[in-house]
Parts: sequence; C-alpha cells; structure tokens
Amino acid sequence: MGLQIYLDGKFVPEEEAKLSIFDHGLLYGDGIFEGIRMYHNRVFKLKEHLIRLYESAKTINLNIELTIEEMEEAVLETCRRNNLRDGYIRLVVTRGKGDLGLDPRKCPKSSTFIIAAAIQLYPEELYEKGLEVVTVATRRNVAEALNPRIKSLNYLNNILARIEANLAGVPEAVMLNQDGYVASATCDNIFIVKNEKLITPPVHVGILEGITRNTVMDLALEDGIEVAQEVFTRHDMYNADECFLTGTAAEVIPTIRMDGRAIGTGKPGQMTLNLIKKFRELTKVDGPRIFTEGE
Ligand code: PMP
Repeated sequence: MGLQIYLDGKFVPEEEAKLSIFDHGLLYGDGIFEGIRMYHNRVFKLKEHLIRLYESAKTINLNIELTIEEMEEAVLETCRRNNLRDGYIRLVVTRGKGDLGLDPRKCPKSSTFIIAAAIQLYPEELYEKGLEVVTVATRRNVAEALNPRIKSLNYLNNILARIEANLAGVPEAVMLNQDGYVASATCDNIFIVKNEKLITPPVHVGILEGITRNTVMDLALEDGIEVAQEVFTRHDMYNADECFLTGTAAEVIPTIRMDGRAIGTGKPGQMTLNLIKKFRELTKVDGPRIFTEGE
C-alpha cells in the first residue's frame, strides 16, 4: 500500500503528492527540513526537532504556514494515517512556487510536506562491530557562507563528501572545517572519548547542532561523565580511546577505524556501548504518543 503524505494541509496518496517544478526548493535548494524518528508509538524529541525547524526558517526568512502546535499535530497525524508506531519522518518546508529568478519575494507561499515511512537502518552488525570512516578533501561549508546550523535543502556539500567516502569504500566520511579541525560526518555528529572524557566539536566549528548529539551529552552527564565541547584534530581522533557518530537515522554508532588506523582497541568501547544502551532506553519513553490507545 502506498503512503499517505501530508501536503499543505491535506493528506494525499504518494502518487498524488506533487509540487511545482517552479518550486524554489527544487530550483535552488531553497528550503529546510528535519529527519525525525518514531519509536514505540512516540515521536522522539519532536519538540526539539520543531524548534530547530522554526529556527532554520527564521534564519532564511521563510514563513511556515503552520504554527508550531499545528505542525506537531500534522506530524502525529501523518504517522497515524500511515499506521506507523516505529519509523522515520521527513518534514520539508520549501520556499514554494516562484519564477525562474532566485528572488524569494516571487514565492508568495511556502509548501510543507511530511512523509512518514519505515526506515532503512544500518545493519545491527555495524552497531556491534563498529564502522570505518575516512577523512575527505571536501571541507564543511563555512558558517559565513552557509551556516551548517541551518538544516537547509542545500546538501551538496555533504553529498560531495559522501561521494568521496563511497569511492573509498566506507560508509561515512569525516569532514574538517576550513581550519582543519574535525567538524562532522556527512549526516552525523562526531564524538571521541579520551581518558574517560567525552568530547565533541563545539557548534562554532561549523556543524549542525544535532538533536542526537545534545541527547547523548545529557545522557553522559547523567552518568557523571565529564563532557566537553572542544575543537580537536584528526590526530586526536586517531589517538582517541573510543569514537562514535550520532544522528537521527544512525542513532549512536561506534566508529572503530579512521584513515586505516584503528581507534582505541579497534572495537566498540565501553562508554560507547553504555551510551547506546541508555539512548535506546530513552527512545521508549521520550516524545508525544502517536496513538493514545492500543499500545
Ligand atoms: N550533521 C548533519 C550534517 C546532519 O545532516 C545530521 C542529521 N542527519 C546530523 C549532523 C545529526 O543531527 P540529528 O541528531 O539532529 O539527526
């Protein structure tokens, strides 16, 4: 059965969910999005995702037609219409239909669509064995040009890096910023553990402020772990005791090799495994319920 898509206030079958080819989301990547997960009949960190969406909108001067409360309900209803309790949600707001020029003033109304679907996960084996990454030549966008804090539809920077990872035959790439500091993976944030301390790059390095990243820092603090947002280099990654990536789709995933060097023992570390466990526990209780009955 095809999916029911939320599109500008209506639910339509996926074959009928269409936008204009003059939409500036398509012509210019002018728009924003969120990737959200639902687990166990709850939409995980929904408030946090919606706040980030509306902050991205503010920065790019995009008017979202729905209030944040209406958007929350639209997301939950999209899950209900597709009878989903576990899966992935893609929420997109485009600048809307305009002319062939790039001026956003030619786009009177933004478009919102929401897709709720089953998710393709990394295989469970990778969570047990860990994944390998390489550093790529493509640097992360500089904040002064296109701030990575905006979750925009302009993902070519990340895609160019992913092409390099593909060519190297590994699932993810480590991207550096202009100064050579570690920024993030193509669609995940990066953490290292050194001497029992958990370290992740600060937002000003030029990263997306990941919801999973912030959640993991909170979970670590709860366990009395020292957590720092500090710049670090590839040298620090090669010589870290542990490393992992975080993201809505990937969750918390151990990283055990980089540029041909084993990180730590070359196996997922104990702090990483503990955080994976704690994160999975949290997904059972966080976020608004989709269906109020029949849990
Ligand atoms: N960095 C980038 C570039 C991303 O696209 C994402 C989202 N997939 C992340 C980090 C992780 O953010 P979140 O935990 O909010 O999914």
